[in-house]
Amino acid sequence: MSLSRVFLAAAAVAALQAPAHAQEQVLNLYSARHYQTDEALYANFTKATGIRINRVDGDDSGILSRLKSEGASSPADVILLVDAARLWRAETDGLFQPVKSSTLDSRIPANLRGKDTGNGAQWFGMSTRARVIIYNKIKVKPADVATYESLADPKNKGKICTRSGSHPYNLSLFGAMVEHMGPEKAEAWLQGVKDNLARDPKGGDTDQIKAVAAGECDIAISNSYYFARMMRSTKPEDRAVVEKVAVVFPNQQSWGTHLNIAGAGVAKYAPHREAAVKFLEYLSSDEAQIYFANGNNEWPAVASVKPSNPALESLGTFKSETIPVSAVGVNQGKVQQMLDRVGFK
Ligand code: FE
Repeated sequence: MSLSRVFLAAAAVAALQAPAHAQEQVLNLYSARHYQTDEALYANFTKATGIRINRVDGDDSGILSRLKSEGASSPADVILLVDAARLWRAETDGLFQPVKSSTLDSRIPANLRGKDTGNGAQWFGMSTRARVIIYNKIKVKPADVATYESLADPKNKGKICTRSGSHPYNLSLFGAMVEHMGPEKAEAWLQGVKDNLARDPKGGDTDQIKAVAAGECDIAISNSYYFARMMRSTKPEDRAVVEKVAVVFPNQQSWGTHLNIAGAGVAKYAPHREAAVKFLEYLSSDEAQIYFANGNNEWPAVASVKPSNPALESLGTFKSETIPVSAVGVNQGKVQQMLDRVGFK
C-alpha cells in the first residue's frame, strides 16, 4: 500500500471515530404507519433539512403504552398514529403538546386537527380515508345501501359483515353517528345494525370485503384504502373479489361520508421540538402529502394536492362529513356503553 493510501485510510478511520458533528440534528419519530413510500418521505426530509430521523415503529397501542411508561424521559419528538379515535386517546392522555404554526394552520383544514385551546392544535391530520359500504353487485341494489342508516333497515337483515364494533375504525364511525343523529337514535341504529349482521364480527376490513365476494354476506363496512389496495392488486384472487363487489360513499344526500385520518403531533416532552415542528410542516408540503397519501391509497389532508392514484380516481369524488374528527373521540366512551347495551361485540 502506498503511503498516501495509508494516510487516506487513517483519515477515514479518524473521521468515523470523531464524534458526529456536535450540530447533528435528529428527530425521534414514533410511528404506527409502515409503508415503503414513507421511507422515501423520511429520506427526502433528511435531504432537505439535514435532520436525521430515528424511527421507533410499533402498532398504535404499543406506541401509546410505550409513551406512557417512558413519561417525561421519553425521547419521542413526533407521534404518528392512525385513526382519530387513537389520536384523541393520546391527546386526552396528555401525550402531545400544542403546536402553533401558520404553515400547518393554512394547510391542514381545521376540522382535521386536534383540540386547540388557543395555543395551537394537539395534532394534525395528514391524510384522510373514508368508511365506505361495499356490496355484492348482483344481490344488492345501490339504493338499498345509500346511507349508513340503511345498514339498520330490516330489508338488510342477515346481510351485513363487519369487524368488531369496538375496533377504533367502528368506534369512530359510530361516534360520528352520535354527532349526526344524537345519542338516542344512534343507539337504536346500532341495535338495528347488530340485528342485521350475517355473522358475529370477526377479522379486519379486507376480510369483510372478501366475505361479500364469497357470498357469506352481501354488505360490508370498510375503510376505503383496503378496497383501493385490492383494486390495485395484480393477484388474480383480489381481481376476482373486486369484480364481484361495488362501493358506495354513504350519505351523499345528507351529511356526507364518514372521514377518518392518519395524523401526527409533537410529543409532550419532545427533546427536539423545533425539528418536530419542521417535520410536521414538511408532512403538509405538496411533495410529502403525495407520498404520504399514496403510500396507503388515502387522500391528502391538504385539499389542493391531487396525487395520481388510479384506484382513487376511479372511485371518484364524494361529499364527506365536516364535523371535527376530534368529536368522534369524545363520543368513544358513550359508544362503547351503547355497544355493550345492544350486545354488539
Ligand atoms: Fe387500517
